[in-house]
Amino acid sequence: MKLTNFVNGQWQEAAEETRFTPVINPASGKELAHVQMSSAEDVDRAVAAAKTAQKSWAKVPAPKRASYLYEIGRIMKERKEQLAQTLTKEMGKVIEEGRGEVQEGIDMAFYMAGEGRRLFGETTPSELADKFAMSVRAPIGVVGLITPWNFPVAIATWKSFPAIVAGNSFIWKPATETPMMACEMGRIFKEAGLPDGVANIVFGAGSEVGTAMIEHPDIKVISFTGSTETGRKVAEAGGRNLKKISLEMGGKNAVIVMEDADLELAVEGILWSAFGTAGQRCTACSRVIVHKDVKEELQKRLLTKMGGLTIGDGLDESVKIGPVINQKALEKIHSYIEIGKQEGASLLAGGEILRGGHYDGGNYYAPTLFSDVDASMRIAREEIFGPVISIIEIDSFEAAIEVNNSVIYGLSSSIYTRDVNRAFKAQRDLDTGIIYINAGTTGAEIHLPFGGTKGTGNGHRDSGVAALDVFTEWKSVYVDFSGKLQRAQIDNEI
Ligand code: NAD
Repeated sequence: MKLTNFVNGQWQEAAEETRFTPVINPASGKELAHVQMSSAEDVDRAVAAAKTAQKSWAKVPAPKRASYLYEIGRIMKERKEQLAQTLTKEMGKVIEEGRGEVQEGIDMAFYMAGEGRRLFGETTPSELADKFAMSVRAPIGVVGLITPWNFPVAIATWKSFPAIVAGNSFIWKPATETPMMACEMGRIFKEAGLPDGVANIVFGAGSEVGTAMIEHPDIKVISFTGSTETGRKVAEAGGRNLKKISLEMGGKNAVIVMEDADLELAVEGILWSAFGTAGQRCTACSRVIVHKDVKEELQKRLLTKMGGLTIGDGLDESVKIGPVINQKALEKIHSYIEIGKQEGASLLAGGEILRGGHYDGGNYYAPTLFSDVDASMRIAREEIFGPVISIIEIDSFEAAIEVNNSVIYGLSSSIYTRDVNRAFKAQRDLDTGIIYINAGTTGAEIHLPFGGTKGTGNGHRDSGVAALDVFTEWKSVYVDFSGKLQRAQIDNEI
């Protein structure tokens, strides 16, 4: 199967000589398809189509634009199982999570469709007589979406659906590892009747297609999700080109377990947050900050439960942990085991690439637990993006907050405590964009803003109404019905 670009409603080969890259099932190592690698010329073609389409799309009433999202959501719902199966084959997450991710896209479609009848601005009194003042959201034009492989559908919907309802057209560059889900979405856009050129998909390397998008004068916004390292490059190049750049980047998320916590609940939350999606969620828990009084007990319970986790092909319903995305990721994760040991941490479980039997051909890593980790160690500060947790002992609530906040990232954090005062202090003092009380670090809902502080983001948010701020421009409109010249801030002293 050859996957080509989706431009102006057509599946289209690259303008230059066609280069293809294999798409590999991380569970088996088998080839699933070949995806086209495009060039700057393909970005030009897509932008030209998007620019033409956007002119009329912007004039379509927002509730009518939203009706296409209702149809997209309906088709996704109808095809939920097939989409989830493809997602699991291509990305590796277990099928239950695949279904969950597709559901997130469906929810986002219906939620954003509702925005077609809201897209609220403000009406406000004017300081002058016989004058009316309001602010309205206006579309921006052609926007660029760059997405990672770990949530091939959900993240794309967080970005493209608000872009659509707000009256923009878009160029989407999916990760090269997960183009099949992008093709599924392209087909759905077409079947839903979305006008040609509103949605365009260009496959290729970040350094080539991504760079061309950031440098294209007709793309006004880049909404990027990926690593902090890449995000920095996107911000630098985008800044030079005066683009609006929305960045959602890496994390080093922590679960805090206080001495008064419900330990069993904490164990469940840690296991799900740390090992779900094989630790490859931007919100994955990779640090457990635990009070000294309950450390041994928590550790013991974690180790017992970790022993019972089934690892394998995510299409098998009984499997709890799937593979990691590719060989490179496997090697990166494994390199941290040596780093952790050299730094003096105690490796209590895992720390190995799984081979032989049903693991052959796939990229499987054993759920790993380090104890006696100091907050200054690299394994406690750097994003590993795999099934590895580090236990850090603290002796007070204040110390827990300090350790949580000491990393360069600020995506998600969690605290387990039965003390309501502590819970409220924690939501005030934890410096991440997402905070959970008595739940793990993963589990965001689409109608709330998603994103983080510090090295995780640059102040924008995906999903929720906040996403509309990325894809709209504010216009302030004054209507003077006095019939005479009135000068604001001059003719009126209040
Ligand atoms: P990545 O940074 O390698 O790639 C992300 C996307 O950027 C891909 O489409 C890639 O092709 C593209 N890209 C690469 N170089 C580029 C360049 N120079 N210019 C423009 N685009 C370029 O990230 P990944 O490995 O695909 O994803 C994993 C990372 O994403 C992790 O760090 C994870 O924490 C992060 N992530 C963050 C969130 C969030 O919302 N904060 C969500 C999911 C994943």
